[in-house]
Amino acid sequence: MKITVLGCGSAYGVPVIGGDWGACNPENPKNRRLCPSILIEDNNARLLVDMGPDFRQQAEQHNIRLLDGVFYTHGHADHITGNFHLPMLMRYYTDRNLPLYATRRTRQEIEKLWWFQNDPAINVEYSGSGRPLWHEIRPFYGFNVGGMDVMPFSLMHGRMECTGLRVGDFAYATDVNEIPEESFDHLQNLAVWIVECNCEFNKDKSHSYLEQTLAWIARVKPQRAILTHMDHTMDYDSISAKLPDGVELAYDGIEIVL
Ligand SMILES: [Zn+2]
Ligand SMILES: [Zn+2]
Repeated sequence: MKITVLGCGSAYGVPVIGGDWGACNPENPKNRRLCPSILIEDNNARLLVDMGPDFRQQAEQHNIRLLDGVFYTHGHADHITGNFHLPMLMRYYTDRNLPLYATRRTRQEIEKLWWFQNDPAINVEYSGSGRPLWHEIRPFYGFNVGGMDVMPFSLMHGRMECTGLRVGDFAYATDVNEIPEESFDHLQNLAVWIVECNCEFNKDKSHSYLEQTLAWIARVKPQRAILTHMDHTMDYDSISAKLPDGVELAYDGIEIVL
């Protein structure tokens, strides 16, 4: 299995609009962060996790055309606005559909935003013969994508629920300020855990910060922990110097092979 981090930035990326790098050193290319997304690949399947506003660029950088599915963690803009490109992406789907996986609430939020793609009365001009096809998922009910077993689990993200996922010995948990006990049960014996650390210090009721994320990692004890969804307070070198063994910062394009 190979995981590629397509973007490890928080909602507004680094630098934020207008070129403000915050505490991040602009000279270090690892500080340039697109919106959060990963690609999980095994022998037969390619699963994209989240399709944010930078998806067009990420798809070009990583040669993403055919996918076996898209998994949406939740309905915030930095995770779903790449859906705008679905009609054009579908040009590559001449002999298959593109399955989209989300909880009912997340699906509803995506359909609300992209109403014109989801209103049967409107004829969206998809480029290929395939179509995006919704599959509703529920936390703790596993499903299969092209031979890849996926276990979604629940995360609290302020007043909304976000969905993490586990594939084999790998798990991804972003946009989270609290992990339910039942979800910790699905985080045992991980080889690699990519987990949110939105900022260095606590400033938001719906995201995690360094002290809290490190406390989760100390409890879950993955062999390797990689921090993601990072804002412009998370300078690569200065935060890396504060991390314990086995914990590192993600950067855009990092590939993890398991
Ligand atoms: Zn986010
Ligand atoms: Zn969010």
